[in-house]
Amino acid sequence: MIQTNIRNFCIIAHIDHGKSTLADRLLEYTGALSAREMTEQVLDSMDLERERGITIKAQAVRLEYQAKNGQKYVLNLIDTPGHVDFTYEVSRSLAACDGALLVVDATQGVEAQTIANLYLALDHNLDIIPVINKVDLPSAEPERVQNELHEIIGLDPDECIMASAKTGLGTEEILEAIVQRIKPPQGDARLPLRALIFDSLFDSYRGAIAYVRLVEGKIAIGQRIRMMATGKEFEVTELGTFRPAMCPAKELIAGEVGFVIAAMKNVRDVEVGDTITGVENAALLPLPGYRPVQPMVYCGLYPVDNAEYNDLRDALEKLKLNDASLIFEPENSTALGFGFRCGFLGLLHMEIIQERLEREYGMNLIATAPSVVYKVFLTNGTVLELSNPAELPAANHLDHLEEPYVKATIILPSEFVGTIMELCQDKRGIFKNMEYLTETRVMLTYELPLSEILLDFFDKLKSRSRGYASLDYEYLGHRPSELVKLDILLNEKPVDALSAIVHRDKSYQRGRQLAEKLKEIIPRQLFEVPIQATIGNKVIARETIKAMRKDVLAKCYGGDISRKRKLLEKQKEGKKRMKQLGTVEVPQEAFLAVLKIE
Ligand code: GDP
Ligand code: MG
Repeated sequence: MIQTNIRNFCIIAHIDHGKSTLADRLLEYTGALSAREMTEQVLDSMDLERERGITIKAQAVRLEYQAKNGQKYVLNLIDTPGHVDFTYEVSRSLAACDGALLVVDATQGVEAQTIANLYLALDHNLDIIPVINKVDLPSAEPERVQNELHEIIGLDPDECIMASAKTGLGTEEILEAIVQRIKPPQGDARLPLRALIFDSLFDSYRGAIAYVRLVEGKIAIGQRIRMMATGKEFEVTELGTFRPAMCPAKELIAGEVGFVIAAMKNVRDVEVGDTITGVENAALLPLPGYRPVQPMVYCGLYPVDNAEYNDLRDALEKLKLNDASLIFEPENSTALGFGFRCGFLGLLHMEIIQERLEREYGMNLIATAPSVVYKVFLTNGTVLELSNPAELPAANHLDHLEEPYVKATIILPSEFVGTIMELCQDKRGIFKNMEYLTETRVMLTYELPLSEILLDFFDKLKSRSRGYASLDYEYLGHRPSELVKLDILLNEKPVDALSAIVHRDKSYQRGRQLAEKLKEIIPRQLFEVPIQATIGNKVIARETIKAMRKDVLAKCYGGDISRKRKLLEKQKEGKKRMKQLGTVEVPQEAFLAVLKIE
């Protein structure tokens, strides 16, 4: 296919604005799939994605389109993840494109991720086609949204395409716009090979599969290739395009999008953002923008039953085959035994991995509260990176601590500005900017500690704005902070898995609340259990779980056997998630209690 008839594009949108549905319409219209095959959204292929209605892994599809000018075009649609945890993956997908459809829900308008993704797209010099979606809904206000796009981003209202991904309205107009308004790929096929890896997938038969955009040069079967960041070398065994199933080809040339298979054993051989070049006639410089994976959130994962430790390791290793951003290493907790400290891109990524371990691998897990990575400066000049609060050295060895900050962009109706500013203030936010996007919509910019966002920021943001505020954030860097370690003692014994690092100004309050919450969560035992919260050697809060008075079963008089069985089963069910800490039985919830306090 000649370059002038190729278009590489993606769809960017705030979550739920209709990106996946629109992708399906484009596939259907171009015959990449028949309507009958389209029983479900194709691009969201993982079960979990479909259930949660989000797109996690970027995917690519090649569409063939006969334009009104009579010419045939190849349109490569690269799907991007729709969640703030995956910003880097989004940026790599965008780097593989020359244009973007900017989808905005006509009933909602511009949201935080619309803006964040649009800025990313503009950074990559993409041609933007605004699409106002869901115009079929009675509550649609396409003119208002058109206006917003004009006022906020300066988009010409005439450029907006009115669409309904549900009914198919606007589909043809969008395809024509892709051909006419997005530039064809520019790269020279005679230059040395440079291909951008924008995603990867693990196949148990073929190993890791790289999803690539050829920027310059060509790649062919049998060619020896080198990954420029890792220096690893392989021989290409298979390559081709996505239609959407993998369709083999002999070579790919500059401008094309496709897959490369080269006996690569796992996805870490094909890092997203890395550049593939030839071993012979190698390019001098990699493509810009490569960044090694950097987990932002950590938690401890422990099997409820210590005998399942090896199973958990195997399951994590399997998941890691397909997920280069998952990191884990063995960890030992006095309270929980042997487990793993796992690193994730963000909270959603963490939840997804936990859920997959439980569903797909039948694991029964105790997860500790998520933590950010702290930089610990010791008095002897050493700097440690710390992702497990329990491991913070004693105060007399500490010079100071640093914690990660993010730049948060919040878009909300103006009536909620007061309450949301209060929330940001309360979360140690530093006010940066307030801008009226339109008469009724405001964009707030704050710098916030990432740890505060992990706690419950998003939930609070949503509840205080009745669901109308949207959030996007990006990592800014580590900054010094007055942090202390809060420890919890159960029955006079410290429980390492319950330790937390908190800001000094909030430490007393947190300690009290945590002790109260634990009292609620931990069931009565046969004996009295004191709960203490301490900072250093100082007890700052104390609660007591009273001893159990009588056997629960005593209530049943031995008469109603089915009721008795039900109770026993219920107890057993409850037990599954209980961890024996010394003589005290503690439910899973307790380890997440710090997330639940006000
Ligand atoms: P994504 O998160 O951007 O991928 O959004 P989805 O494509 O999953 O769509 C979110 C929800 O909006 C789904 O329930 C879709 O069925 C619905 N939806 C998408 N496009 C339209 C549309 O044009 N009209 C209507 N009425 N609903 C739509
Ligand atoms: Mg989607």
